[in-house]
Amino acid sequence: MKSRLYIKQIKNFLLDILFPTNCLSCQVKNEILCNNCVQKIKLAERETSENILAVFDYRDPIIKKAIWELKYHHKRYLGEKLGQLLYEFFIEDISEIKMNVSGRSVYVIPTPISNKKTKLRGYNQALAIAKGFCNSGESGTFELKNNIVVKKVDNLPQAKITNRKKRLENVRGVFEIKNPEIIKGRTIIIVDDVTTTGGTISEIIKILKKAGAKKVVGFAVAH
Ligand SMILES: [Zn+2]
Repeated sequence: MKSRLYIKQIKNFLLDILFPTNCLSCQVKNEILCNNCVQKIKLAERETSENILAVFDYRDPIIKKAIWELKYHHKRYLGEKLGQLLYEFFIEDISEIKMNVSGRSVYVIPTPISNKKTKLRGYNQALAIAKGFCNSGESGTFELKNNIVVKKVDNLPQAKITNRKKRLENVRGVFEIKNPEIIKGRTIIIVDDVTTTGGTISEIIKILKKAGAKKVVGFAVAH
């Protein structure tokens, strides 16, 4: 079972190298998601929950497909593209955040997934997005911090729970902070692929603030 999965991953990897990539929506050559298609994606309502912003409406088929390919079809490079879009769409919010950090870098933390999921998928999709996001900023603006928030419990996926209250319960206590001294007084952006009710990001905001972070906001690709 495991080796079969491994062979599949190698096969997909080789296919990606051998064949030039086309836009996942319109198939135009040498673009993974072309600007023409990006402009067609429906935007999310600006504020999802307090301090959480999302760019696109997850019901839109193009963004849904992009996130699906990133998560389940090993198209890690889509994370880079989605991270760039996150940066471009929130450029004004980022300028405002930068004004209040007194020249220090803003920490960027991808929403962690469990070790089990990381092994199964080969990578954390939120980390792939966070890398694209950080690379889009001028050097010194962002600092990627992937080892501060860890997921200690492999809970049910939030999307599988319909009741809002149960969703909040489902994420309570599943994350842990390592090296809290690093985040004292810092401004942090949490990056995620999809936020549904904002429960997961809200929980991370809560524990980071409790550990002494100054300001924490969440940026998601879709809502
Ligand atoms: Zn296209």
